[in-house]
Amino acid sequence: MSYKAEYIWIDGTEPTAKLRSKTRVLKDGAELPTWGFDGSSTNQAGGHSSDRVLKPVFTCPDPIRGGDNVLVLCEVLNPDMSPHSSNTRALLTEVAERFADQESWFGIEQEYTFFQDGRPLGFPIGGFPAPQGGYYCGVGADEVFGRDVVEKHLDLCLAAGLEISGINAEVMPGQWEFQVGPLGPVEAGDHMWIARWLLYRVAEDFGIAATLDAKPVKGDWNGAGAHTNFSTKAMRESYEPIITACEALAEKAMEHVQNYGHGIEDRLTGHHETAPWNKFSYGVSDRGASVRIPWQVEIERKGYIEDRRPNANVDPYVVTRLMVDTCCSALEKAGQV
Ligand code: ADP
Ligand code: MN
Ligand code: MN
Ligand code: MN
Repeated sequence: MSYKAEYIWIDGTEPTAKLRSKTRVLKDGAELPTWGFDGSSTNQAGGHSSDRVLKPVFTCPDPIRGGDNVLVLCEVLNPDMSPHSSNTRALLTEVAERFADQESWFGIEQEYTFFQDGRPLGFPIGGFPAPQGGYYCGVGADEVFGRDVVEKHLDLCLAAGLEISGINAEVMPGQWEFQVGPLGPVEAGDHMWIARWLLYRVAEDFGIAATLDAKPVKGDWNGAGAHTNFSTKAMRESYEPIITACEALAEKAMEHVQNYGHGIEDRLTGHHETAPWNKFSYGVSDRGASVRIPWQVEIERKGYIEDRRPNANVDPYVVTRLMVDTCCSALEKAGQV
């Protein structure tokens, strides 16, 4: 007998990478081999030397095909087995190993928007729905659009064994969120990329497209973010390291914002529960700050912080690398590990 392995990888599309996948049929018991693809069709190679290598790095059950079939997340390598320049996971694993002793955890809130017939699901033809207000965590056919897809996606993530911690309807019609984590920096990225692939894949069966566009509708409509909740062992035990992490993020504010996803200036305007992209701030319970310290964290004097800046279209491997690098090195320097 044979089984099907869906090899999934992140391409080189600019400014925001896309997911690609193809199927390999394998004999039962056969190990997952490295594989190849045409990098000239994914902006990862020129036409004259187009072969790129797929190296399996994370595998889970394929909840769509079922049976013994699997999903296989891959890193992209050059033919000499060095990481391809688009391979942000390889950069992350290096940093994650360097600070592994600090035991970083991430919980990422992935917001996204469904589109059908060129407009957000729930938007009437040629116009706009009622203004924002009733849609967030709403119920009823006049408030909520696409719940059958969202429920199916959650079930698929759970069947795949992904660490998904919740879902909710968002502020704009057709806009939703799922949360992944808490997980280590590499695992959070792996689970997020597979959860994104499952989202696109299941929506396809409903004739709906999911987009991670950070500002899918201009004007008085919320953008889509990927709030990133972060803690280290020291932060989970006391309050001082939480402030150290916030201050470290303040010092590197621009480096982070520039790598938090395409179109971030359009989303972080200072309106719609955001802080302006060029003005860093942190505060307790403050949804208008760049970084929020949840209220119970201040009361309990320990816990985690929420970086509210990353766009929905951010590369999770980039955001976890930057946060570990910035915060863990500051904690180390302060002797707070
Ligand atoms: P919000 O109130 O901002 O909407 P959510 O409930 O959507 O928050 O998401 C919070 C996320 O933070 C979840 O994914 C959760 O697993 C994660 N989380 C909780 N505790 C920690 C922690 N100590 N470190 C990192 N992430 C955490
Ligand atoms: Mn949330
Ligand atoms: Mn949200
Ligand atoms: Mn949040």
